[in-house]
Amino acid sequence: MKESNKLGLNTTCVHVGEVKDEQFKGAVSPIYTSTSYAFDGVDVKRYPRYFNTPNQQMLHKKIAALEHAEDALIFTSGMAAISAALMTFLQKGDHVVVQQVIYGGTYNFIVSEFDKYGIEYSFTESDNIEDFKTLIKENTKILYIETPSNPLLGITDMKAVTTLAKKHDIITMIDNTFASPINQNPIDFGIDIILHSATKYMGGHSDISAGAIAASKKHIEEIWKTAINFGGNLSDQTVWLLERSLKTLNLRVSAQTENAQKMAEYLEKNTNIDKVYYPGLKSHPKYELAKKQMKGFGAMLSFELKDGIDTMAFQNNLQLIKPSMSLAGLESTTVSPTQTTHALLSEEERLERGIKDGLIRFSVGIEEPEDLIADIEQAICKVKM
Ligand SMILES: *Cc1c(COP(=O)(O)O)cnc(C)c1O
Repeated sequence: MKESNKLGLNTTCVHVGEVKDEQFKGAVSPIYTSTSYAFDGVDVKRYPRYFNTPNQQMLHKKIAALEHAEDALIFTSGMAAISAALMTFLQKGDHVVVQQVIYGGTYNFIVSEFDKYGIEYSFTESDNIEDFKTLIKENTKILYIETPSNPLLGITDMKAVTTLAKKHDIITMIDNTFASPINQNPIDFGIDIILHSATKYMGGHSDISAGAIAASKKHIEEIWKTAINFGGNLSDQTVWLLERSLKTLNLRVSAQTENAQKMAEYLEKNTNIDKVYYPGLKSHPKYELAKKQMKGFGAMLSFELKDGIDTMAFQNNLQLIKPSMSLAGLESTTVSPTQTTHALLSEEERLERGIKDGLIRFSVGIEEPEDLIADIEQAICKVKM
């Protein structure tokens, strides 16, 4: 048997971290739902909130293998993972440099919680490395990035970020949700801590809430000590569902990524559309960088409808593609950032961030691109009638 880091991606998805059914030799992992385990003469004191039930422990191995990391932890949501990771390495008087455009929930967590703990933070002006450099102070402990970022698919240079951070002895964290481990492995670029909303691609069927962290054994050990105090452990039934979902992670995300490239190219040619944001298009300002650091360009893209085409009417006319708050499921979905993720910002603040009213974020699913194209064509046609 090869070591897990030498196995193919689909083999890793299917086999690494299986719980062996020694008793009945069943084909899939049994679920151990016990919240109470013997303590006498057992080396591991098992308890769900210690993140060490059999199902939890084995799934950590699969996620670690997928992210080329030594170890991993699974949480009850992406935010449980992100908050535990940040709070592990920060204390009163510390400072964090955070990329300007990040997931709204992470932004809210930082601006509404950090002051209470006396933790300082600065947001960069853009995702360019110079903007990170100027914000580093004596007390900076973490550089936090997200690439590709939401909703304009900005690309941050991971190698430049880690080179900068290492010079100042700063920990780097990345939200790798949009790329998923299939399209990007930040550890290979020197990033210390990888964060995921497993509610998205890892779950992939829009039916489970979970989060994950992948990192070195040393960092995971430190995060674990904080995580058991916050208590964001995932129930074993959901751990099992996540394991099942991950078996098809590469099949799903590869198909979605291939479709997204086709959809981006189609949308770029569509005269009813002003602009398409997708790192796999040569028109993307960071196309070359994306090519260097991503294995695939991902399945998220955004586009702007031409002035005069009503974005809500367009989305309501879609018959296959669903307007939806979330993303990354097998099914294609759209969302208007103006009305959801960025609704709390003023129009001026939105425009400052490049988010126009006609912007639509598109999470591309596994449907045949011809069907998705036909759906978009008929929806635009109806709005223009
Ligand atoms: C959804 C999401 C999160 C938060 O995950 P939850 O599972 O909802 O807590 C974090 N980052 C990104 C990029 C996301 O899309």
